[in-house]
Amino acid sequence: MGKSYIKFAVPITVVVAALLVIFVISNNKPATGKEIVNENAKEIGIDLTGQPLFGHVDAPITIVEFGDFKCPPCKYWGETIYPKLVEDYISNGNVKFSYVNVLFHGRESLVGAIAAESVYQQSPDVYWSFHKALYDAQPKDEGQWITIDKLLQLAKEFSSIDQEQLKQDIEQEVTKDKVRIDGDLVTKHNITVTPTIIINDTIMVDPFDYEAIKEAIDQKLEDKINE
Ligand code: CA
Repeated sequence: MGKSYIKFAVPITVVVAALLVIFVISNNKPATGKEIVNENAKEIGIDLTGQPLFGHVDAPITIVEFGDFKCPPCKYWGETIYPKLVEDYISNGNVKFSYVNVLFHGRESLVGAIAAESVYQQSPDVYWSFHKALYDAQPKDEGQWITIDKLLQLAKEFSSIDQEQLKQDIEQEVTKDKVRIDGDLVTKHNITVTPTIIINDTIMVDPFDYEAIKEAIDQKLEDKINE
């Protein structure tokens, strides 16, 4: 018995090792350059119809974040990189920003996304403030925190949000179709990590490398001028 187990164990180890090698190779990022160009994309290859936008509509560069309110690195990105983008590129009209919901953390991701989409539907003017309030409320530990009560408590800070309507919208999941549209984008564009940051048609390999982000934006702005 023991012998036949060992006989099996060796080939299985070899197979697992081979699979690991394949996995590592397929996930390996190019050694040179900091960007992966989505070859299927022309201009902004992502259909952002109906998505919230921050910045000037006519801004030549569009940055999309695929994020999840339950994701700690997304909170960190929003606190460290996003303010720099606002200061350097969004406020002067060079970049507009959009956000697509990713549901990598189960039920809470879904409820948070439904709440944010509901706020966007009824009070688009406060969407980004509510969005920030949600990330601000993310605790350091990874326990449960996105509950309907918590969402309504956060919404109370915004007088233009109809609280009763929002409660109904969340409970009845009325914006689930909007969240599904986001989910389709996640699938279509093969988003596997959050945050994923896409600058026009360029996926940033390291969304926390602000120098690389600047470089990508500046290059694209230069290309626009030379068009
Ligand atoms: Ca959306």
